[in-house]
Amino acid sequence: MKVYCCERNVTSLPLDVEPLVACTHCDLIHRDTALPAHGQALCTRCGAELYGAGTHSVDHALALALGAAVLCVLANLFPLIRFNLQGVDATTTIVGAVWVMAQRGMVVLAALLAWAAVLAPAIMLSGMLYVLLPLRLGRRMPGFARAMRLVRAMQPWVMIEVLMLGVLVSFVKLDKTGAVEATAGAWLGVALMLVLAGLGVAFEPRMVWRSHDALRVPVPPDVRAQACPDTASAAASDLAVCKVCGLISGAHGGGQRCARCGAALHLRQPQSLSRCLALLLTSLMVYFPANLWVIMETESAFSVRQDTIMSGVIFLWREGSQDLAVIVFVASVVVPLLKILALGVLLACVRWQWPVPRVQQARLYRLVEIVGKWSMLDLFVIALLTAVVDFGSMAAVRPGPAAIAFGAVVVLTMLAASAFDPRYLWDAQDSGLKGRHG
Ligand SMILES: [Zn+2]
Ligand SMILES: [Zn+2]
Repeated sequence: MKVYCCERNVTSLPLDVEPLVACTHCDLIHRDTALPAHGQALCTRCGAELYGAGTHSVDHALALALGAAVLCVLANLFPLIRFNLQGVDATTTIVGAVWVMAQRGMVVLAALLAWAAVLAPAIMLSGMLYVLLPLRLGRRMPGFARAMRLVRAMQPWVMIEVLMLGVLVSFVKLDKTGAVEATAGAWLGVALMLVLAGLGVAFEPRMVWRSHDALRVPVPPDVRAQACPDTASAAASDLAVCKVCGLISGAHGGGQRCARCGAALHLRQPQSLSRCLALLLTSLMVYFPANLWVIMETESAFSVRQDTIMSGVIFLWREGSQDLAVIVFVASVVVPLLKILALGVLLACVRWQWPVPRVQQARLYRLVEIVGKWSMLDLFVIALLTAVVDFGSMAAVRPGPAAIAFGAVVVLTMLAASAFDPRYLWDAQDSGLKGRHG
């Protein structure tokens, strides 16, 4: 159930009895409203989610985090796929695929795969357990805020669902050549994917911070008691919103740290637009080699086949897997280009005030954030095929030079999206902030 939060009218209630929430996407300040069970508070201006109903407890999040941690270990121990070619068996785990890539000299690619499929989930889950276990026992742990920041930083890089789709695509590609079956690791991976999805909902930072605050005496100073002018956005009221824990503090010209979690406070992310533009231009430069060069080489006893991303899509289509061909085409060709174009349009909207309705701009940014990681699909497929199809001169798969360029496009566009501060989109509308773009 979705509930639109009330926009704060400063004159209606004294600030010291009215908890405030600022939208991290457009900076509008709202009154903290109680929600029905499973409700979701949305920003009245841009539609972004402000917070959930808080129906999840530390116990609930902890149970899911423990389950995910166990599944994460098991899914990495067991092979994902078994492939049989003329009586010869081959299997691979994800760590095995990373190892094979590294041995073939594709160290950068191997590191990227290890990061997205193993390290980022492991670090995120460790951070969550470090935070939740002591909370459950009613203890305060040193480094709580740092662990929360780490969890938040890891979340966009956890790509188990993309890996599982990669297993499915590899399955279809191998099916025509020999006997292929999904093994324990693949099923454990699917279970891990589902538990992580549940954990993503249950681990509400707001709920975790409140549970932590309840143990803490005294509660850090809050801006609620401060007077602020009757303006729409936090920045226009000289209030800074912590991106990690959501606490609103007086900005006092900037440069200080959040009283609750210690994160650096900025009215807007410093150099957001110039960093985003630089990353975007670099990703556009690597986008062309990524699509034109060979991304995968398949060698058999009789022939050597070289595929670009597009010829791989056509191959899937001709083999009768039209649905997967469409998925790979969207993930590998459309999504990266869409991200580059969309961020380019958003930068132009901020710089030259392009006449795109602001709510549409906000939606476009949220779309870019959501679809980002799915471009990793092709890289997971290549890694799995490289590891499992390794029969010497009989059959072998090798990654081509485009694979590294493609990996660079994925990483650069993800970094560009996170560098862009969407609150700039609304600044021209909010009075009092003109001339602060950085
Ligand atoms: Zn908003
Ligand atoms: Zn904070």
